[in-house]
Amino acid sequence: MKIVRIFAHRVQLPLVEGSYNWSGGKSVSVLDSTIVGVETDQGLVGYGEVCPLGPFYLPAFAEGVRSGLRELGPHVLGMDPRELNKLNLRMDAALKGHPHVKTGIDIACWDILGKWTGLPACVLLGGRFGESVQLYRAISQIPPDEMASNVAHYRQQGYTRFQLKVGGDPDEDIRRIVAARAVLMPTDRLVADANTGWTQHEAIRVVNAVRHLDVYIEQPCLTYDECLAVRRNTSLPFVLDETIDGLDVLLRAKQDRAMDIVNLKISKLGGLTKSKQVRDLCVSMGIAMTLEDSWGGDITTAAIAHLAHSTPEQFRFTSTDFNSYNTVSNADGAPRREHGRMRASETPGLGVVPKPDVIGPIVVDVHE
Ligand code: MG
Repeated sequence: MKIVRIFAHRVQLPLVEGSYNWSGGKSVSVLDSTIVGVETDQGLVGYGEVCPLGPFYLPAFAEGVRSGLRELGPHVLGMDPRELNKLNLRMDAALKGHPHVKTGIDIACWDILGKWTGLPACVLLGGRFGESVQLYRAISQIPPDEMASNVAHYRQQGYTRFQLKVGGDPDEDIRRIVAARAVLMPTDRLVADANTGWTQHEAIRVVNAVRHLDVYIEQPCLTYDECLAVRRNTSLPFVLDETIDGLDVLLRAKQDRAMDIVNLKISKLGGLTKSKQVRDLCVSMGIAMTLEDSWGGDITTAAIAHLAHSTPEQFRFTSTDFNSYNTVSNADGAPRREHGRMRASETPGLGVVPKPDVIGPIVVDVHE
């Protein structure tokens, strides 16, 4: 079997809440997502999706994904999509870095492997653990009382885990954390995610002010060393996200005892193959994970569900159902949240079928 065509569609994903705001005044109202298709000489087609959270979250932007596919696409034509490690080595040899560009091709090839074997991707990724995957809800940054109201609102919908977008003014962030915790039950989990937004002294003020609360602190500062300094000044459980973008820094963080939980995003790491590698290593090292992506629609949500569902339950901290944040659905068959949980599909591959009327015309087309 060989790859004969790489193509892509562009899909706009407006947000149910109108906008999504996080640290440093960053905000997005319409996400720009790329649906990547990989076609084989045997007629099998697989799909992936890549959706950066605007151009200012990770070092990636939407048009860069599509431009990168035009650059990288010709190098994977003729390769067997079922040989995932070989495919990834080829992509790394042809294009240095740019994990977002590689992610769509890699996910689409897992979809093909599933369709070819007749197995859901989660089985191929290691096996289906448990009945369903617990979800968190990200709470966009607005005034403290309104964020607490949103926590209560989404709790009514079945969520029991919440990620507060902080990383703004530290005094207001302290009020955000206190207000949100006050509307939760003791068994609910709350994460205060600063998304790199605090300087070191601000972060230490915040963790000291909320030390009496049951709250996790996620990625307080921009650099690894600043985060480590904060970590060493708090007893609150600690999550690293933006700075953990590969194996080197993960191993260093393990050695430094720099976190209790690591946030793995599929497109930050370069696809399901590399996410599986990092995930399996985390399981071996005893580190629990948030398994997710930067953003996305139905196809990304399906990929997250398969990665999370194939992770042993005690190592799954949370995941999220991005398709419920958007007003547009770009594929049929994706997981739908029930009581704050989702399940990976039981059909072959990712189990999704893109909607032709939503994904529109082909905007990248690389073929022999
Ligand atoms: Mg995070």
